[in-house]
Amino acid sequence: MEQDETAERPQSGPVYECVRCGRRVEYKELERYISFRCPYCGYRIFRKIRAPIVKRVKAR
Ligand SMILES: [Zn+2]
Repeated sequence: MEQDETAERPQSGPVYECVRCGRRVEYKELERYISFRCPYCGYRIFRKIRAPIVKRVKAR
């Protein structure tokens, strides 16, 4: 079995977006903080979004 190096990390869980600062935090990342706060601004309201697609599309 070969291990190929991928630049993209697999997103295993849902991703949340802080409604205040707009930062996206993975659920497993949020779990590490008590009371489910935004690690950046401390806000507590998130909206659930899909795992971000990091691919960039060329505009032409
Ligand atoms: Zn925030």
